[in-house]
Amino acid sequence: MSPSHALSRRKFLQSAALASAASMISRPHKSLLASELFGSDSPEAGPLAEVGYGDVSLASSLHEQQLQQTHAVLMELSEDSLLKPFRQMAGQPAPGEDLGGWYRYDPHNQNNLFDSGFAPGSTFGQWVSALARSYAIDQSPATRKKVLRLNRLYAKTISGDFYENTRFPAYTFDKLVCGLIDSHKYAGDPDAFDILAKTTKTALAHLPPKALEHGLRWRSNPDVSYTWDESYTMPENLFLAYQRGAGEQYRDLGVRYLDDVYYDPLAEGRSNLEGRHAYSHVNSLCSAMQAYLTLGSEKHLRAAKNGFDFVAAQSFATGGWGADETLRAPGSPEVYKSLTGSHSSFETPCGSYAHFKLTRYLLRVTRDPRYGDSMERVMYNTILGAKPLQLDGRTFYYSDYNFKARKVYSTNRWPCCSGTMPQVAADYRINTYFQDARGVYVNLYIPSTLKWTQGGAQIELTQKSEYPYDSHVQFEVKASRAAEFAVNLRIPAWAEGAAITVNGKREAASAGSFARLQREWKSGDRIEVELPMKARLEAIDAQHAETVALVVGPMVLFALGDPATVTRAQLLAAKRIGAQGWQIETASGAMKMLPFTAIQDQEYTTYLRVT
Ligand SMILES: [Zn+2]
Repeated sequence: MSPSHALSRRKFLQSAALASAASMISRPHKSLLASELFGSDSPEAGPLAEVGYGDVSLASSLHEQQLQQTHAVLMELSEDSLLKPFRQMAGQPAPGEDLGGWYRYDPHNQNNLFDSGFAPGSTFGQWVSALARSYAIDQSPATRKKVLRLNRLYAKTISGDFYENTRFPAYTFDKLVCGLIDSHKYAGDPDAFDILAKTTKTALAHLPPKALEHGLRWRSNPDVSYTWDESYTMPENLFLAYQRGAGEQYRDLGVRYLDDVYYDPLAEGRSNLEGRHAYSHVNSLCSAMQAYLTLGSEKHLRAAKNGFDFVAAQSFATGGWGADETLRAPGSPEVYKSLTGSHSSFETPCGSYAHFKLTRYLLRVTRDPRYGDSMERVMYNTILGAKPLQLDGRTFYYSDYNFKARKVYSTNRWPCCSGTMPQVAADYRINTYFQDARGVYVNLYIPSTLKWTQGGAQIELTQKSEYPYDSHVQFEVKASRAAEFAVNLRIPAWAEGAAITVNGKREAASAGSFARLQREWKSGDRIEVELPMKARLEAIDAQHAETVALVVGPMVLFALGDPATVTRAQLLAAKRIGAQGWQIETASGAMKMLPFTAIQDQEYTTYLRVT
């Protein structure tokens, strides 16, 4: 054990003691009770609650296509193929076709060959999770049957040999935990917790003793890639397992794997992100948030808040971060350099998945709308424009912010991002609305309906719009009887001059806040929201004020083809052409610009050098 290990072990024991002491006096995840006691405006109010997957229906074709398309791929995958690496690694007969890519097990090709068995079976748990969430949305019996069947088939393969032979025992275990607790909660699998207990008992003997960063050896490894496991992301799902009733041991395990070597400096406001693997460390901030929600640990809340701020400060205008999958020090020139030096600008499905979870936690706990602004930015400018997942394992992985960029599939089939993309697609519903005892929070403007019960009345809130192509959003209330509640609308920080009316009467709205509409609502009540989308320019960093992205409302506009010489004034005078396009008049002619969701295979650039 190195001296730094000895130190972190001591810190770990201290924090575990503090955390368990905190857990005796504070259980903030009993959120609704707290907000009933204190009222939702007081700082003592608990976190906002998530809505149920089935409480929201979306009427946006982009969002729904992504859900239906990823779901269709998962339903189509052969169960023998899905089980194949688990059966092979347990020494069992393994019939059926090999899925290939990262997913396969190839004992003879274990030398860092990404497209041949890099992470066998590692997306299985995420796919089961996505299927369970999808069942929670539409109650399709075929989906539930598939979830239950996959869990039972998987249960027969649980073996220590799997964890011995995979590069990523902690990563794969974390995703299996997620699949099983989601199967319990969303698909009502009565055996999920038993299968989870068996999985946990088996895996634990083959996991590191505590959270370990990349590059640290803790077992005999064939090569360095065996030190790229992500044990520091495990507490989130372990704490969720505890909260959902799987047992006390999961809370203790969550505490054991908290990565305080990473969180402690962040909690003190010091960035230690430089050089760290991007997705997994943003994902690890979700474990810090669960340490706060489960144990009441304020230190971990501070770590997550500060960590988010450091990541936001090094983000591209799209909200994406982590070029070449690496986080940077504050003010690092590397972000700017990546515009010419890299095409791997943002690990889009995994990065979005972590980003949405983290901002969901932060929004729920702080009620600060800037986390909603951030979610919206990442959604429209990255994942919603991802190329669709294909049945042969082709997966959209990196968004490209190079001056000469294209949308492409990963050269590796079934990578990590094929696991997170179906989860992201299922989760748009729970990103859109939140609740507390007094009413609802509208976080995203997506055509949709939320149904809930307020003081015994059945309420439906329906929003309609062409947003973000139109600044106007309309809401209509249906109520089984009149009921008093609050509708809180996120007014983005960029929406200067926002206006709201209820039944034609003007209400207060200011940019960068939740506008609170508290009243007795009845069927037929209407809310009209106007969110002015002024064009603005955002520089890549303070040292390169001449390198800018054009942003309109929540959307970045990407220039097609060879970018012309252009001035700030010309960009800001962008004119709409057609439903989803913009045009810039430059000295050398017209330049077309599109949002990410409208780009197909054309070459584009995110940033332009203005004169
Ligand atoms: Zn990924």
